[in-house]
Amino acid sequence: MVNTVKDALDYLRSLETREGNLVDDPELNELLNPYRAAYPFPYQCQRDRCKTTIAYWALHTSGARIAPGPKRVHRKGVRAGEVPPASPQRLGRPLVAEPPIQGGAGDLSFPDLEWKQEFEQPIEWAMTGDGDISLETNPNVGSPWPLRWKFTCPRCGSQYPHTNRQMLDLFLHALYARQRTIRPGTVG
Ligand SMILES: [Zn+2]
Repeated sequence: MVNTVKDALDYLRSLETREGNLVDDPELNELLNPYRAAYPFPYQCQRDRCKTTIAYWALHTSGARIAPGPKRVHRKGVRAGEVPPASPQRLGRPLVAEPPIQGGAGDLSFPDLEWKQEFEQPIEWAMTGDGDISLETNPNVGSPWPLRWKFTCPRCGSQYPHTNRQMLDLFLHALYARQRTIRPGTVG
């Protein structure tokens, strides 16, 4: 039986595990693997008259987690959520073992980041970037990956805090519904 993105979404919604344990859930990760190379989605402000793109979201190359970044690599004719056809180099290799050659979190870009390589780029960006993507303090303690992020619209100032679980849900729903963008209000 071939698993679908709906299976991944249903499984995520049925999981009662703690936020911190969800990242390493083996079954969830297995279900996410086919979508790790999906082209990042623009994450937009919820307010109708605004709709400003605040960030771009991609599935991380490993773990059940969403990696946000300020920009994405421009790929002509590729739509958000589209998984590029497997290249010869990628065939037979699990995506979790190495970053994808193209697509997914590899398509996020951090143009102004002076990366100290202390943390992964999305985290360092959230710590030092322009403030549109930031980390919520305290709740991240005890996890190697931030479990709570905050997105601030650069145009109207609206703030959107999200747990990693909510971000996964929004991302999977966008894939399932073939959306072109992700907006905060559609958490299931
Ligand atoms: Zn806005």
